[in-house]
Amino acid sequence: MCGIVGVISNPYNANKAGVPTLLEGLHRLEYRGYDSAGIAIIDDSQQLNRRRSVGKIAELEGKLTDNPLAGHIGIAHTRWATHGPPTEINAHPHIAADNIALVCNGIIENYDELRIEQQARGIFCESQTDTEVLVKQIHLHMLDGMNLIAAVKTTIGELQGAFAIGILCAAEPHRLIGARRGSPLVVGLGDTASYLASDMAA
Ligand code: GLU
Repeated sequence: MCGIVGVISNPYNANKAGVPTLLEGLHRLEYRGYDSAGIAIIDDSQQLNRRRSVGKIAELEGKLTDNPLAGHIGIAHTRWATHGPPTEINAHPHIAADNIALVCNGIIENYDELRIEQQARGIFCESQTDTEVLVKQIHLHMLDGMNLIAAVKTTIGELQGAFAIGILCAAEPHRLIGARRGSPLVVGLGDTASYLASDMAA
């Protein structure tokens, strides 16, 4: 079980410190060990962007130097692979419909059942993780007419296992969503920014 960091800050603040804040948080979680890392940010034009890499956070930082991201809301993750090898495709965040991004610590025990149900509805995961089905399930519930919060709550109710989750949606760039069951997730509320993290260190 590895690391989650999330940040949402004032979009009118000239200093859009989303990416540096997330990277600093990931570094503070490095002591836990991990095999890959990733970040997703909603930019000012409400586009969801993602970078992922295998190996150290420095690899991810190299990608961000080559292809920078900016924004006031984002989530980041260090992965300790439990389902699927440590590849870039299996690294978090996972995305649905180019619109919803999700990171998860822990294990989803019934992911295979959810995946089979999703496939019957023409929705397919690209990774081998137990995590990607979560973001696809949220998207499916939204296709069925639920709003984001209802779709997240319904999805959480369908899960078996112990997990902590961070979610964002490009259509609602004022919301950073966290959920947990049996795994730690802390919330930091501030005047100009608020945070999610799997560990106080971040
Ligand atoms: N079970 C998830 C995976 O293998 C998350 C692992 C973790 O906690 O980092 O992708």
